[in-house]
Amino acid sequence: MADGPAAKAVVLLSGGMDSAVCLHAAKAMGYAVHAISFRYGQRHRIELQAAESLARSLPVVEHLIFDLAAEAFAGSALTDSVAVPKSGVGAGIPVTYVPARNTVFLSIALAWAESMAARDLFIGVNAVDYSGYPDCRPAFIAAFEQLANVATKEGGYRVHAPLLQMSKAEIVRRGLALGVDFAQTRSCYDPDPAGRGCGACDACRLRLGGFAEAGQVDPLPYVC
Ligand code: ZN
Repeated sequence: MADGPAAKAVVLLSGGMDSAVCLHAAKAMGYAVHAISFRYGQRHRIELQAAESLARSLPVVEHLIFDLAAEAFAGSALTDSVAVPKSGVGAGIPVTYVPARNTVFLSIALAWAESMAARDLFIGVNAVDYSGYPDCRPAFIAAFEQLANVATKEGGYRVHAPLLQMSKAEIVRRGLALGVDFAQTRSCYDPDPAGRGCGACDACRLRLGGFAEAGQVDPLPYVC
């Protein structure tokens, strides 16, 4: 990147390990990082606390927590009284899919970016070890980038998804190389009241599998 003021980037920050690595990757690329998180009725507020702590310690230029009406995202195990599956990562779209979440999040991130003349959006989606979510696919990222460029005054937007083709183990290694403190992140879909991971939901399984494959120990506490 040329000298002068750093270009601004808007980074979606959920508080999970992938978004934490994505946040650090954007900073390492030289961007002035503006992080955005969403309160959308998720059952577990602990992930927003994780997002705040990650944003503070990077640090970011600013961290916006955007409130959305929870009613729009009902019917998912992450927002509703649907049980979180614990029997392993299966085929098909799991009940932890939240209706059109990444489309909504990226749309708001795009509005914020256009309002501050930022042209770069970052999202930590992953298409390799992912849980089957349609809005984590490469085709979704490409389609949203195309949308951003026809939807705005000047266009020129890039949607960066630096983890898109990485395995969970590669994400762990990349995060450690970038200095991510994984103890600040949260992944579990169903933590206990003390914030400990259940060790059995898809998010815990993928996370623990990634650490094990990378030969690293996950610093988070688990119930089992
Ligand atoms: Zn879990």
